[in-house]
Amino acid sequence: MIKAIFFDIDGTLYSYEKGNRKAMEALADYAHKNFSWESETLFSVLQEVNAAIVSELNSTSAIHNRLIRFQRALYKYGIPVFPHAMNMYLLYWNTLIESSAAFEGVSQALSSLKDSGFKIMAVTNMTAFIQFIKLQDLYLTKYFDYILTSEEVGSEKPDFKMFHKASELSGCNISECVYVGDSIKNDYYGALEAGMKAIWFCGEETGTVEDVLSFSKWSDLPGIIGSLNDH
Ligand SMILES: [Mg+2]
Repeated sequence: MIKAIFFDIDGTLYSYEKGNRKAMEALADYAHKNFSWESETLFSVLQEVNAAIVSELNSTSAIHNRLIRFQRALYKYGIPVFPHAMNMYLLYWNTLIESSAAFEGVSQALSSLKDSGFKIMAVTNMTAFIQFIKLQDLYLTKYFDYILTSEEVGSEKPDFKMFHKASELSGCNISECVYVGDSIKNDYYGALEAGMKAIWFCGEETGTVEDVLSFSKWSDLPGIIGSLNDH
């Protein structure tokens, strides 16, 4: 019997890809105006710095903190960290958040699941502050009981600790929980390996994968979760 449903945020509740593209365009404009960098320079510098940070910090939420990423990039190339690191950080997130909206049907599906009595939590690889702002600006906070981030857990999906902590906080056994997310590796298989059920949000372009329980339209989700409870 499913009692708790956990959701990924980025790429599942809204299009991270679209928001990130807009935010990177805004950053490219900023870097061009302020340091005469071409966009290719900016993208390669950020990529290089990000790879170094990921290898140093491994699987911790600080790898997602763009303030650290931007500061490191500016410092490395002799550009004043103040005020540019903070300006870039705010520009990136404000642009991404302002240009993002929940996918069609998300609000209705969450509302119907909430009305059916499920415990609903967001379980996400990211820093808490940014994820709280995202849910707020997507107008989805009223459906969620909790946002569990990798910052709070100290490790990242697909680590089982993320899924086990979510189950513990929900007060439900791991077998009574289902995870819904767009990453087949981090979300779908991560949750299954941790012992919960999982549903992959595959989006319309990606298509389905054999033997993977999936959906591409949010209006289908309540029915799929209902069918898990019929077995
Ligand atoms: Mg995702």
